[in-house]
Amino acid sequence: MDKRSVAALKYVGTQRAVRLKKLGIKTVGDLLWYFPRRYEDRRLLKGLATLVPGEKATVRVMIKGWEEREVRPNLRLLRALVEDGEGRGYALWFNQPFVRRRLKLGGEVFLTGKVNYHNFLPEIQVTDYEVAGSGEDGLHAGRIVPFYPLTGGLSQRWLRLIVHQALKETAGKIPEILPPSLCTRYRLIPRCRALEYIHFPPDPAALHQARRRLKYEELLIWELALVLSRREREDGRPGIAHTRDNEMVRRFIAALPFNLTGAQERVLGEILADMEKPRPMARLLQGDVGSGKTVVAAAAMVKAVGGGWQAALMAPTEVLAEQHGRTLHRLLAPLGIPVAVLTGNTPRAEREAILSGLITGRLPLVVGTHTLIQENVDFKALGLVVIDEQHRFGVGQRAALQAKGDAPDLLVMTATPIPRTLALAIYGDLEISLLDEMPPGRQPVTTYVLTEKQRAKAYQLIRKEIARGHQAYVICPLIDESEGIAAEAATAMYQKLKEEVFPEYKIGLLHGRLKPSVKEEVMESFRRGDLAVLVATTVVEVGVDVPNATVMLIEGAERLGLAQLHQLRGRVGRGQDASYCLLMAGNDGAARERLKILATNSDGFAIAEADLRLRGPGEFFGTRQHGLPEFRLASLPDDLRILEHAREDAHRICRENLWQQPEYYGLYLAAKEKMDELKL
Ligand code: ADP
Ligand code: MG
Repeated sequence: MDKRSVAALKYVGTQRAVRLKKLGIKTVGDLLWYFPRRYEDRRLLKGLATLVPGEKATVRVMIKGWEEREVRPNLRLLRALVEDGEGRGYALWFNQPFVRRRLKLGGEVFLTGKVNYHNFLPEIQVTDYEVAGSGEDGLHAGRIVPFYPLTGGLSQRWLRLIVHQALKETAGKIPEILPPSLCTRYRLIPRCRALEYIHFPPDPAALHQARRRLKYEELLIWELALVLSRREREDGRPGIAHTRDNEMVRRFIAALPFNLTGAQERVLGEILADMEKPRPMARLLQGDVGSGKTVVAAAAMVKAVGGGWQAALMAPTEVLAEQHGRTLHRLLAPLGIPVAVLTGNTPRAEREAILSGLITGRLPLVVGTHTLIQENVDFKALGLVVIDEQHRFGVGQRAALQAKGDAPDLLVMTATPIPRTLALAIYGDLEISLLDEMPPGRQPVTTYVLTEKQRAKAYQLIRKEIARGHQAYVICPLIDESEGIAAEAATAMYQKLKEEVFPEYKIGLLHGRLKPSVKEEVMESFRRGDLAVLVATTVVEVGVDVPNATVMLIEGAERLGLAQLHQLRGRVGRGQDASYCLLMAGNDGAARERLKILATNSDGFAIAEADLRLRGPGEFFGTRQHGLPEFRLASLPDDLRILEHAREDAHRICRENLWQQPEYYGLYLAAKEKMDELKL
C-alpha cells in the first residue's frame, strides 16, 4: 500500500486531511482502499425535451440566465434557465448561492437530479453538477459515478476528485500482490486495474470483475493472517498436554445436582481428549441457550487445574462474569478450588490480591471481563482459556488472552449457530463440538404474539405467575427514545409498571447506562427473589440464569431479530416450571408472521435458519450478533464461496511453504500487516 500521507496529493490541504482522518484515511493507500458505497449510472445523457417528471436524470446543458431569491428566511432559491440543442428547462438549487459563481453564463454543464415541472418546462432539482469540459475529466457525469460513505464537511465531488488524482499519481506503481498462478486460476484482473474500476467502472461488468478480484484478495489476506498467526503462536511450542488423570473431573461431575445430558457427556469427552493432546486445542462449543455449556466448561477447567495449570474464563459483560463467578464458586468449592472474579469494577485492594494470586499461581482460576486482557494481568501457568459468548469478542481479544500463556488450550462457547464452513473460515482451524440436547424436564417456553389490545391479558398472566412465587422479565429493546424510534423506554416502562400496573410488587430496572455496581445490585436482588419484576433492556440477553423467572414480556418484539429474541427467551424456562414468553408487536402482518416462527419453534438452529431465509443475510448478519468480522468489500455469508477458496489457498500456501518464492512476498507482507491490525 502507498504509505504517503494523503496531504501529499493535489487538492488535499491540511484541513481536509484532518477530515479524511475521521474516515480512517491517512495515507494514499487508505484512500485507494476507501471504496464507494454505491454507484449511479449516469452514462446516459438525456435531452431536456425528453425528461419525465419524477425521474432522476443527467443532462448536458448551457446556462442561459439566473434567478435568485429568498423564498422564506433560511431558504434561498437559485434557479438557472438552461437549454440544450432541443429544448429548454430550469435547474434549481437551494441554499447554495456559490453555485452561481462557479457556473458561467453561456457555459456548458452536466446536471443530475430529480425532474419536476416549472412554468411548463422541466426543472431539475440538482443533486450534482459538473462543468463540462473542465479539468475534472467528466468525473461526475457521463459515466458510472461512485458515491462514498462520508461524514460532514466533505463532498462526494471532492472525494471523487482526489481518488481520481490518487489513481492518476499511482498509475503503474500499484504492485500486484497475487502470484500469477492464482490470478490465472480464478481469472482475476490485475490489482491496479481492479482499483481503478472499483472507483470508476467503465461498465457494470468491469465493476463486477473489480469487486470479485478485490474480495478474493481481502479474504485471502484474512485467511493467511489467521493461519500465519496460529503457526507463529505454535511455532516451537508444543502446546500443553493436560493430565490424563480425570479423577478430579469425576468428583466434580459426581457432586453436580443433576446428571449430565448425553450431549454434555459426549462433548466433554471430546474436550478432555483434545486437552490431553500436546497440540494446542482450539475448539468451538456450540449449544442453544440453556443447553448447559457452563458446566462443560467448568469440567474442562477442573481438568486443567487438576493438572496444576491455571484457567481463565472471559465473558462479555460484568453481569455475566459475576454470574459465572458465582456459579463456578458453587460448583468448585466442594473441590477446594477458589474462584476469583476480575472486572473493571473490582475494588483496588481485591484487584491487587487477584493479580498477585495469578502471577504467583496461588489462584488457579479466574473469571472476568475483557479486563483480563489488560497488560498488568499475568499468569504463572495459564493452561486453558475459555471465552463465553464469543461473538461479543474480536479475534484479537481472544488471541490477547491466549498470549498470556504459552500456547494454552482454547475453548470458545457460543449460543449463536453458525454453519460449520463459515465458522471454520472465520475462526481458522476450530474443531467444533455441538451440544444438541437440552437438559431433561425443560418445557418449551410457551410463546404468544400479542397486540396492544391484549396487554391487559399479558399483565394478568404475569400476576398469576408472581402469585405462584415466580418472577418476570419485561424487556424494552431501547434505553431511550433518542433514536426517534417509538420504543417504549425501559425507564418509562419501569415508572409505569411501578406506579400504575403493578404497584403491589417490587420492581427493578436494569440497563446498560447504569453504574456497574448498581447493575450488579439489581441483578443480585432479582436473583435472590426480592424483586418480582425486572424491567430491562437487552442487557439480559446473554447468559443470565435465574431459574425462578418463568415469564418474559418483550416490548416492540418486531424490532429484534428472531435469533436475538430466541436468546432473550432462553432466560426463562430454565427451571422445571412451565414458562411463557409474550411478544408485544404492532399490526404489521409480515412482522407478526415472522414472530410466529418463535411460537411454533424452540430449536435455535432452525430459528436462525428461518430468520436468515426471511430477512436475508444482510439484516440477519447485520445485527453484529454473529461476530462476523467486518470486511471492506466481502460480505458474509454471500461471499462464502470466495472465502472457502481463499481458505484452501491460504492453507496450501502455508503447507507448501510457498512463502519462499518471491511472487508471494507481497501477500506475506499484507498478511503480516493484517495481523498487526487485528492484534493477532
Ligand atoms: P447455556 O448453555 O445457555 O450457557 P447454562 O450452562 O447456563 O446454559 O445452563 C442452563 C441451566 O441448566 C443452568 O441452570 C444449569 O445449572 C442447568 N443445567 C446444565 N446442565 C444440566 C443437566 N444436565 N441437567 C439439568 N440441568 C442442567
Ligand atoms: Mg451461557
